[in-house]
Amino acid sequence: MQTPVCELCAATNYLCSGCQAKLADGRITELDVQVAHLLSKYKEKFALQKVQFDRALDLGRMAIILTSSDVSHLVGRGGKTAQALSKELGKRVRVVHSTTDSRALLEQILLPVKPTGVNTVFTQKGKQLKVRISRNDVVHLPTDLDSINRVLHSLLGDNAVLVFE
Ligand SMILES: [Zn+2]
Repeated sequence: MQTPVCELCAATNYLCSGCQAKLADGRITELDVQVAHLLSKYKEKFALQKVQFDRALDLGRMAIILTSSDVSHLVGRGGKTAQALSKELGKRVRVVHSTTDSRALLEQILLPVKPTGVNTVFTQKGKQLKVRISRNDVVHLPTDLDSINRVLHSLLGDNAVLVFE
């Protein structure tokens, strides 16, 4: 199993100086550490030995877990692993395959809502990336707008905006 923290830190509630430094400078987050602990705890029970957990994104009432191994390994049979994580974290859990394509990742996060378009526009303030969503879909967004905006900015930059129309 691979997680953003080392194997020893995943298995204990203690962070070594290396993992502590990663946490301090923001290369990993508290949620990454929390998920690594849970996966380590469930390693035998849910056969997670081959799982590669890359990072977790905190979206308020939802957590996105990014993996570069098979998504089904982390979802578990009948969704059991994801359900256990969800219960422990107190958040809905969505397992998504890691990608360097930020737009593709954003689309996974927004599901079941599909943006009607993503366009670059030029404004007086400079270049802006507009992610267009139908007004009717607002109620179907998987989590709150503040959390979505936060993740939007971290994935696509500060100039990205959600537009409802
Ligand atoms: Zn460590």
